[in-house]
Amino acid sequence: MKIAIIGSGYVGLVSGVCLAHIGHQVICVDNNPEKIKKLKKGELPIYEPGLLELMHECVKKKRLSFSGSVKDASAKAEVIFLAVPTPSKPNGDADLTFIENVAREIAQSMDSYKLIVEKSTVPAETGKKIRRTIQLNLPRKFKQGHKILLDFDVASNPEFLKEGSAVHDFMNPDRVVLGVESARAEKLLREIYKPLKTKILVTNTASAEMIKHASNSFLATKISFINAVAQMCDRVGADVIKVAEGMGLDKRIGRQFLDAGIGYGGSCFPKDVEAFIHLSDKSGYNFSLLKEVRKINDHQRLAFVKMIEEKLWNIKDKTIGVWGIAFKPNTDDIRNAAALEIIHLLQAEGAKIKAYDPKAADHARKALKGVAIAQDPYEAAEDCDCLLLLTEWPEFREVNFVQVRDAMRQAVIFDGRNFLDGDQLKECGFDYYGIGRGRS
Ligand code: NAD
Repeated sequence: MKIAIIGSGYVGLVSGVCLAHIGHQVICVDNNPEKIKKLKKGELPIYEPGLLELMHECVKKKRLSFSGSVKDASAKAEVIFLAVPTPSKPNGDADLTFIENVAREIAQSMDSYKLIVEKSTVPAETGKKIRRTIQLNLPRKFKQGHKILLDFDVASNPEFLKEGSAVHDFMNPDRVVLGVESARAEKLLREIYKPLKTKILVTNTASAEMIKHASNSFLATKISFINAVAQMCDRVGADVIKVAEGMGLDKRIGRQFLDAGIGYGGSCFPKDVEAFIHLSDKSGYNFSLLKEVRKINDHQRLAFVKMIEEKLWNIKDKTIGVWGIAFKPNTDDIRNAAALEIIHLLQAEGAKIKAYDPKAADHARKALKGVAIAQDPYEAAEDCDCLLLLTEWPEFREVNFVQVRDAMRQAVIFDGRNFLDGDQLKECGFDYYGIGRGRS
């Protein structure tokens, strides 16, 4: 199958590489010339485990190429996936201008049947708007009054991969959701995903779009639920880790997404929850549950900073070490990372910040003003009044904590992800504070 992927970021690039790996002919497109230049040189513009090797293999087999031109790539492909950003507008609505621009460009160069597939996360009913944009922008020869003479389809195929394990997730999905309006579109998409041998759920476009909204919002709800439980654990002397374990053993609940901490972040959950709230408000339904989910998430950051303030007394002029900036481990992505917000809150109180992240240092240097970026975890801890663990990178469990303790001004650790062994750290001489671990 000849496929074009428009947008070569975390989703587009992983999807493109994986689709080439399972046998398709793929062109990945991006309008950022730097990204295309890097990709053509065999380099990745993002960090994602396992992606580089797979990309090299697909290029070598001549199944994968890169282009800066939406028009050229879509002319060569029968199926075109849209994987461009859909960020939040200031009012929370999804900004769909990237989608509209690409749809217009595709339409202008169309001269045969195309299947245009939303892979970006978009509000329900975007499919209809894409269809309308394409109709409006088709070459004149394909229009006769109101009649459209060129057949095309718009479908929704939401992506559920997780950054950090994106290649594995794409190749081993729990399900593939196909939102289609025609048998032809369904046939093409089934053919594309056939090699994955996974459960395929076929719906109409609006239901597929809604599945993505609902899934991400549900996962965010689980996180906020356990964070609210963690607040209660602190107040009654319970340990949220044990509580999550006990809840998670119930198959109806499941253990995943029950990790209490400083709340969800990243490029998806905050914006997708926001967009679903906005869509609900716009359609006349007050989705108050989701508004509370968002509020609890915001509160986790504030409560964490308050806890630091309580233990350190004054934050002004204290030096605070930060371990982890990326929004989750195994990625260099810092979009909407909880760490950014916490660092800003502490800076506003007058703290000096030294931060270390194994992969996100370059992005952090650009995004964070007045933060010293350390080369390793030890340098980040040196002369600090406390240390914050904000991203649960596995390497933070491997450090020599005696060395860390001796390098710090005060041996105090605030573990925003309940990731470290608190008992061991206490034995080693640290004051250790987690989230919902029963302080009262
Ligand atoms: P990203 O910012 O990493 O990648 C988007 C890419 O599109 C960028 O490289 C950008 O340069 C390119 N682009 C923008 N306009 C373009 C245009 N007109 N022509 C060609 N390229 C263009 O974003 P992402 O994280 O890959 O997310 C893309 C979409 O997928 C979003 O809607 C997001 O919500 C959704 N999604 C993301 C994830 C995730 O984990 N990141 C998971 C599932 C769904």
